[in-house]
Amino acid sequence: MRPIVAHISEVALAHNLAQVRRYASQSKVIAVVKANAYGHGLLNAARGLKGTDAFAVLNISEAVALRDAGYQHPILLLEGIFSAEEMTLIDQYHLDTVVAHQAQLAWVLESRPNIPLRVFLKLDSGMHRLGFQPHEYSHALQQLANSANVREVILMTHFANADVVDGTDAAMQVVRQMMPESYARSLANSAAIVQQPHTHADWVRPGIMLYGATPVAEKSASSLRLKPVMTLQSGLIAVQEIAAGESVGYGSLFTADKPTRVGIVACGYADGYPRHAPTGTPIAVAGRLTRTLGRVSMDMLAADISDIPEAVIGSPVELWGKQVPVDDVAQASGTIGYELLCAVTARVPFKIHG
Ligand SMILES: *Cc1c(COP(=O)(O)O)cnc(C)c1O
Repeated sequence: MRPIVAHISEVALAHNLAQVRRYASQSKVIAVVKANAYGHGLLNAARGLKGTDAFAVLNISEAVALRDAGYQHPILLLEGIFSAEEMTLIDQYHLDTVVAHQAQLAWVLESRPNIPLRVFLKLDSGMHRLGFQPHEYSHALQQLANSANVREVILMTHFANADVVDGTDAAMQVVRQMMPESYARSLANSAAIVQQPHTHADWVRPGIMLYGATPVAEKSASSLRLKPVMTLQSGLIAVQEIAAGESVGYGSLFTADKPTRVGIVACGYADGYPRHAPTGTPIAVAGRLTRTLGRVSMDMLAADISDIPEAVIGSPVELWGKQVPVDDVAQASGTIGYELLCAVTARVPFKIHG
């Protein structure tokens, strides 16, 4: 067995959910577990997040997996359904659905559910991705409100710029104009939860912060009092001593300027580690912070262990986790923590810690 493992902490999930409730103490929480719970494993994450008020997923298959595992929470389909046939499953599995365009509206109005539905009516408040345009919104709301198929309508939007100061001001103007006060609202993702308190409303929709990564580039997860849920761990499978002028890895991208001890780590881009991580990306070997060297290959990467004499074959390596924030690896690689967490591949075994 290669030494690579993704450790998942249920305690950290519960801690981060508690932090969501501290940031948005007046709101109910829809824990977003799409994309296999941001790469953590849907059912792994659901266990740690069972104290949530609701879950949100993308595909009906994910909702069914949660129901089959015994979760009775409300489950929201974040993009709604993709064909009229899926209305049957919504009814059968008691799912809540987003209505974001005319076809979805028609499917809801023309279905015959045994139990009237709860729908989230999505407004495009400026992101121009999903949602009704402001001039269509009132009419859609009226049709849903008058339908015997619908027991409750929650008004919803998603912000394009919740991670920037004042980034929700324009969208909130549209929200105030288009959303009648008498309906519950769901507006805020993680970035809005941590820094746009005026957007919290009735139901918040945290994703990334539940997994202990930052939603805001300028603020670290630890400064937001979040704990990393995933520790991607591996080990050294070889040690090289190279002389000044010698290089490491494909393309010889790193050349030593002095004698250098190099640890070869059992982790590469086929495990989900970013190939674009340059020399200098943070990594921890034998519990000590150091840097990567040269190009990441499919199954291996190299770490500088010149100052870690105790590092030997078999020494533990943290790719990201408590010691090396995933956001720091992401920043060095020109991406965000979201992408790295989602990208851990199927060949990496998971170990769940209760
Ligand atoms: C993914 C998603 C969220 C969660 O976003 P984070 O930035 O991870 O908190 C919330 N709402 C919608 C509609 C989403 O698609």
